[in-house]
Amino acid sequence: MQENEKPSRPTLEQLGEFGLIKHLTQGFQLSHKSTLKAIGDDAAIIDPESHEIVVTTDLLVEGVHFDLSYMPLKHLGYKAVIVNLSDVYAMNVQATQITMSIAVSNRFGLDALEAFYDGVKAACDLYKVDLVGGDTTSSTKGMLISVTAIGMSKASKIVKRSGAKPNDLLVVSGDIGGAYLGLQVLEREKEVFKVNPNNQPDLEPYTYIVERQLKPEARKDIIELLEQLEVQPTAMIDISDGLSSEILHLCEQSEVGCNLFEDKIPLDPTVINAAEEFKMDSTLIALSGGEDYELLFTIDQSDYPKIKANPNLTVIGHMTEAREGAHLVTRADTKIPLQAQGWNSFGGKN
Ligand code: ADP
Ligand code: MG
Repeated sequence: MQENEKPSRPTLEQLGEFGLIKHLTQGFQLSHKSTLKAIGDDAAIIDPESHEIVVTTDLLVEGVHFDLSYMPLKHLGYKAVIVNLSDVYAMNVQATQITMSIAVSNRFGLDALEAFYDGVKAACDLYKVDLVGGDTTSSTKGMLISVTAIGMSKASKIVKRSGAKPNDLLVVSGDIGGAYLGLQVLEREKEVFKVNPNNQPDLEPYTYIVERQLKPEARKDIIELLEQLEVQPTAMIDISDGLSSEILHLCEQSEVGCNLFEDKIPLDPTVINAAEEFKMDSTLIALSGGEDYELLFTIDQSDYPKIKANPNLTVIGHMTEAREGAHLVTRADTKIPLQAQGWNSFGGKN
């Protein structure tokens, strides 16, 4: 063999199902003592040590939830983990374990699956979660991914959607709207590419929003921050569908109303510029865009001094009595009822 020649790679058939699982999962480290048994038995064993357990799962389908023509597989593996961790963090709980199940058609080779698992591993390493199992099977068409995430916590720390009270402050982490606009940029470049495959897109001005779409992060750090600040949110949710639908979930489950102030919604300058370019209203994007994976929560007013100086947290409104309803208070000081708009309101996909 030549020095720089790669050793021939086994095919999926040659590896077989067990060989493949072993190959893909061998580099994963375990970091939680609650993980008593991970991959390799009929089931994993987890020791909750008198904590309560939170469990969440998501199913992602190619062509519905992701598009491999602009989503590199490594990013997809990363994002599949992140979106589940975000749901655990939205309970104010640190995630400890995940399982990862995949179905792939014969269009995917070993390189593709390795790239996907590189992304899964990067997320597991960065967020300190143990991969404890999964399932691997074939599909007739496309790729399906199912991730289950587990976290554990003292019962008193867990935050549901249902605990907000009138006069509580509504707080959001980071900034929003970027992921949706990142998707618009990628969709536009895909269309340009179809017409002229030699055209090299200049994505530089859009780095932040494209990353928000392709490589989102979950706010593990905010859970740590709230603990440090000794703030126990009264209700919490993560922003996967857009600010307005998440606010409405909090309102409905907590039986309260809300005033959201348009001028307080945190937007990155890149979001404002790209919204202008796409002739879209940046507030509407923040309200309906989705996939930002920021945390939205309510706190008692007495906790305000603890969070007010923090650049990661923005107070965007307050809760009211249920009968007052949920409203956006615009810059012009008019009140508009909040609606749960999805992608459709932009004529986008769903
Ligand atoms: P079973 O026949 O009991 O379903 P499998 O052969 O599917 O067992 O899995 C063997 C081990 O590998 C189990 O611990 C399972 O959780 C794990 N596993 C299977 N597929 C994956 C995967 N895609 N990612 C991570 N772990 C996996
Ligand atoms: Mg199995």
